[in-house]
Amino acid sequence: MIVSLMVTSFLAGNINAQIQSPEDYLVTNYGKHFTPHHLLVEYARYLADNSEYMTLETYGYTNEKRPLLFATFTTPTNHQNIDNIRKTNINTTGLESYSDNMVNEKAILWMSFGVHGNEAAGPESSLTVMYKLANPDAQTRRWLDNTVVLIDPSVNPDGYSRYTHWLWRVAGDEPHPSMYDREHMEPWPGGRTNHYHFDLNRDWAWQTQVESQQRMEKYHQWMPHIHADFHEMGYNSHYYFAPAAKPYHEYMTQWQRDFQIDIGRNHASYFDKEGWIYFTRENFDLLYPSYGDTYPTFNGAIGMTYEKGGSGRAGRAIIMNNDDTLTIRDRIDHHVTTAMSTIEITSQNADRLVANFKKYYEDAINNPKGKFKAYVVKSSENSKALADLLKRNKIRFKYATEKQTLNGYHYQSEMNKSFNLEPEDIVIDVKQPKSTLLQVLFEPEPMLEDSITYDITAWCTPFAYGVEAYGLNAVPSVNMEPEYAEMMDMSPPMDAYAYHFSWGSNEAHQVIAAFAKNGVRMRLADRSSKIQGKEVKRATVVIMKGDNKHIKNLNQLVVGTLADSSIDWGTLDSGFSDAGGDLGGRRFRLIDNPKVLVLAGEGVSSYAFGQIWHYFEHHLHYPLSIVNKDDMGRVNLEDYNVLILPDGFYRLSKEEKADLSSWVRGGGKLIAVGGALRSLSDQEGFALARYATDEEKKAADKAAEAKNLEERLVDYEGEERRRISQIVPGAIIQNKVDNTHPLAYGIEGDYFSLKTTTATYNWLKDAWNVVYVPESFKSYGFVGKELKDKLGGTVSFAVEEKGRGSVIYMVDNPLYRGFWHNGLHLFTNAVFMVE
Ligand SMILES: [Zn+2]
Repeated sequence: MIVSLMVTSFLAGNINAQIQSPEDYLVTNYGKHFTPHHLLVEYARYLADNSEYMTLETYGYTNEKRPLLFATFTTPTNHQNIDNIRKTNINTTGLESYSDNMVNEKAILWMSFGVHGNEAAGPESSLTVMYKLANPDAQTRRWLDNTVVLIDPSVNPDGYSRYTHWLWRVAGDEPHPSMYDREHMEPWPGGRTNHYHFDLNRDWAWQTQVESQQRMEKYHQWMPHIHADFHEMGYNSHYYFAPAAKPYHEYMTQWQRDFQIDIGRNHASYFDKEGWIYFTRENFDLLYPSYGDTYPTFNGAIGMTYEKGGSGRAGRAIIMNNDDTLTIRDRIDHHVTTAMSTIEITSQNADRLVANFKKYYEDAINNPKGKFKAYVVKSSENSKALADLLKRNKIRFKYATEKQTLNGYHYQSEMNKSFNLEPEDIVIDVKQPKSTLLQVLFEPEPMLEDSITYDITAWCTPFAYGVEAYGLNAVPSVNMEPEYAEMMDMSPPMDAYAYHFSWGSNEAHQVIAAFAKNGVRMRLADRSSKIQGKEVKRATVVIMKGDNKHIKNLNQLVVGTLADSSIDWGTLDSGFSDAGGDLGGRRFRLIDNPKVLVLAGEGVSSYAFGQIWHYFEHHLHYPLSIVNKDDMGRVNLEDYNVLILPDGFYRLSKEEKADLSSWVRGGGKLIAVGGALRSLSDQEGFALARYATDEEKKAADKAAEAKNLEERLVDYEGEERRRISQIVPGAIIQNKVDNTHPLAYGIEGDYFSLKTTTATYNWLKDAWNVVYVPESFKSYGFVGKELKDKLGGTVSFAVEEKGRGSVIYMVDNPLYRGFWHNGLHLFTNAVFMVE
């Protein structure tokens, strides 16, 4: 909004009549072809410059440095008061308390388009929606009187651009509606995800990606009453809108359930009139808390997903299975209709929305959901990372500053027991604005209303972060501080015989990576020793002057790096041990600084590859080479000592396997994850096998055959239920750990693994079964019964020593979605610590 134009419009009547529609403004044939992101940005800016109903901000930038836009629509009168409207709404939540005591009366609706980049009709339709709001007719103007509409026109500009630029390159003047034409065949990795191939619609709570981090800052400044997330799905599917499918999370309020139905009915009235086909309640559930519908739901909003048939496969036009042709124009029209209908019903119910939102937060603070009244997270290296997650989600907590004996439910043992609260332990009082989200993130197991879901069913953060946690029935009355200061009292020595630092924290990962990048040679203690009266524990990293003559400013580099961190470190003036081993002996093995090669491309899961890529660049800050699987034959493996095969569906040829095998024998380290294990299973030269003995295999075959016979007369209707008895959409499985093996350094106690795969491998012969499922184990979330019966006695992470090298088998993916924090230790150990 430009002030001088407002004055002009006041004098000249409706200046908005001059505003050009996307069809008129854009040279790219709007409605027939997709608008490149830079032109989408240009058009949004053009609208904002010419309308008194709209303001536009850039709230951040993507990895590829495209702007993230945020448009605000309401009447000019409201715009003059917009900061008050925003602040009074935040006052309602209790997240902040701004001084003025005004009461918010405006409904706040947030609409997000294109979190999945190749669902490109989302951002396209945002242009028409923004045009209609910037240039409102009388009815729309009335809606904007009591409603603020917030629009993120392109949530994932990098993915959107990956898709639309590719489509422009392969598209001719006319569309090719037959399904096998190349304009329907998006190449790897597709445009759904962001730069690092992360699905941003799984990242709302974890905020591992820069787009999510910046968006959530904005989200918390506004806290909308309704959030609608615009998607596309398979092109033969009909339009999907609220109400959502079961399972609903039990913490959804009745109001949140009921109002979705009102919204759905409003949309249906428009679709019925046009003869458009739609469905509700069948597919998209409200459970996993990190979507664009659930996250707002657990923050008091009505959170909804809308899906139009289309997405990357649909190109500019495609013939559907009913012989009708689906065009970009159809996809835009449908999304614009639900968007405008959402604005309408929001405005019609502004009072109810405001009142119910207020009640939600009153209840959150005074009468929170869930069975625990408080949580304690024991202080550890991992608890620091968990504190960051809480902060990102505006969940309040404090640090204990004194000791006390308390009683509570212990997550790891599933038992009530007494424990000592100690200074620096995290204490979370449930009575707070974000109590629902807190309870969702901390519940050991969400209550499922129905077991058929299409995503992971457990995410309990104490397990994900590997922290010891307790649920309490009362808030401890103990002295606490909102922050605690790291006490750093280390005067840097001038020189030392050796330096040592402790392992097991995120920071230690980054420190070891920084040293390795600078060519510092390090040693790893595989037993505890006592040197100069100091305990040098297992997994301590030691840097010796004698190993690093090639580094001129070693003292400065090492001390500078360690002093900047909060990890425990120190110096030694002698290598002579009082007990255990001398620094120069075999208990302190030299670490091979990794030269890393990762496979990418067709066949490799783009998600799994992206998680590894993001891990190296954003977690470790460590260089890696990325080679497409098809180019592997051209690579000289001898240039690398770590090769990572991400999860995926690819086969290695016999020659490739033989090459790998001899490279490993010569000192290489092969890390295979998830589906990559299939290529190595039951192969000569590799210890990996589904079954350790012929007897195990025979028993499994026999059981499968018995089941086949038993199921000869089952009913057709029950098929969906029977099928899920063999699957795991994502559940937490308790694993036992050999904490003495370098693969497990830094992991304390059991490891709770996020299992998303049905592949099972019984405990391996001729390998270290470092992290394994015991015969009897605990699980959280949905695991199909048949699969659960098979999981006992299987391995999750194993190491096979071969010649001078090793193969590390990762059955579960420890970097899944970048949020399984405790998995970072396993992966970093695999890269650095395992011999
Ligand atoms: Zn989507």
